[in-house]
Amino acid sequence: MRLQNTIKNEILVSGLGLHTGRVINMKLMPAPRDTGVEFIRTDKGNVRIKANVCFVSDTTFATTLAAEGVKVGTVEHLLAALAGLHIDNVFVEIDGPEVPIMDGSSLPYISKILDAGIAKQAKAVNFIRILEPIAVTEGPCQIAVTPYEGTRITYRVFYTHPAFGEQKMGIDITTMNFINELAPARTFGFLRDVEMLKSKGLARGGSLDNAIVLGDKEVINGGKLRFKDEFVRHKILDAVGDISLIGLPIYGHIIANKSGHTLHVKLLRKILLNRNAWEISSEPMVITPAPGLAAQV
Ligand SMILES: [Zn+2]
Repeated sequence: MRLQNTIKNEILVSGLGLHTGRVINMKLMPAPRDTGVEFIRTDKGNVRIKANVCFVSDTTFATTLAAEGVKVGTVEHLLAALAGLHIDNVFVEIDGPEVPIMDGSSLPYISKILDAGIAKQAKAVNFIRILEPIAVTEGPCQIAVTPYEGTRITYRVFYTHPAFGEQKMGIDITTMNFINELAPARTFGFLRDVEMLKSKGLARGGSLDNAIVLGDKEVINGGKLRFKDEFVRHKILDAVGDISLIGLPIYGHIIANKSGHTLHVKLLRKILLNRNAWEISSEPMVITPAPGLAAQV
């Protein structure tokens, strides 16, 4: 059994929004048990937007939530940090339409949460235990979840690019694995897409400081990757954030091939529709020994 957690102290974060290019201010605050993660748009009459799959309004390039016509976008790296550290309940005041991109990874959020401290709450966490496989396929892209005692993600990406072709990784999503193996992995994009987005008035805050940018042949920002397989690690990080939108931790093995935000969310919706394929449980988790912190599969 694991008890629910919130943060001990408030956390202030200011940083550029990737798409608006403006400075966004955010305040994370402790929240009572069973709250979940809840955004509050302080510049829009304090509209509340729950971090839940019901409120996903867009999954193009990033995950966007919306309620009462008010949005909060690029939530996935913050949600991944919260899920990775087992922070179940938090209020997030935000004065703009997107979560600051920071360095394009979850590491800045991890540091701030660990500095603020984690507070245990007097109620057990419920989990969604997957009992039967559920899969979503769209053309060459697939994602599935199968029964597993713990949370594991196996991800494969494939791009026809000289700097990286195929990368794959399977990892148990424990707190230590998340902090050490996934949180530092930065988002990435192709220069041609960045130019296209900027021409549409998007990615105004995008720079070499908050993403790995790939030219036609190489990594543009100095070639200094944090991991040689940083791309697939970032995809797993995104999946940790997106999957948390189901509202409870999942005991299951998520297996993704050429997937992304859209399929992550479609999988969650299919899980919710297949009520016989899972149960709610608060039983102790039996940790299956990982074949290595970051074993290849
Ligand atoms: Zn991402």
